Amino acid sequence: MTVTAPRHLVIVGRPGSGKGTQGARLARDLGLAHLSTGAALRRNIEMDTELGRLAGPYVAGGELVPDDVMLRVVEHALDAPEVRERGYLLDGFPRTAEQAAAFLEGHPDRLDAAIDLDLPSDEARRRLLARGRDDDDPAVIDHRLALDAAEAAPLVELLDRAGLLVRVDACGTEDEVFARILEALGRR
Ligand code: AMP
Repeated sequence: MTVTAPRHLVIVGRPGSGKGTQGARLARDLGLAHLSTGAALRRNIEMDTELGRLAGPYVAGGELVPDDVMLRVVEHALDAPEVRERGYLLDGFPRTAEQAAAFLEGHPDRLDAAIDLDLPSDEARRRLLARGRDDDDPAVIDHRLALDAAEAAPLVELLDRAGLLVRVDACGTEDEVFARILEALGRR
């Protein structure tokens, strides 16, 4: 049997679940382009681009940037020759069932698997408070976690129905979680 490594991945999970860390490591390991929408937005905000000026207030307040904007950001990123060649690991998108449906509409092959990092919200909150990014202010953290709690269930359900979901326990050390991800992907 030939096992083909997945080339179109998404990593989901609440803020603080380790999407960025594990996503970067997994992308490196599998040779995929790591596309973090949060990081892309933060770069644009820092560079004061048109996208950065539009997205800035949403990011600062822990609100979701409108879907049409995010879809354009992702479509543009996927169009890069390097990304087309290597494949990608999406981190931070899709974040809602609506984004996932729009992204997969007419392109079911855009995702081979969706890794869901499962972490209790009190542990996520603890990790976010310890991290100290600009939008990791306690009130904004609570808002982001509450927003995620509302968006996550329909998103995960859609990914599960599409046969893409790979659930991974995100408690423990970075190495432990990474080993679980590789193991879970290998079982698919
Ligand atoms: P992250 O780095 O994934 O935690 O994202 C940081 C912030 O960027 C979020 O709180 C949102 O304001 C914005 N953001 C990132 N990805 C998305 C997305 N797919 N849809 C809407 N907003 C997003």
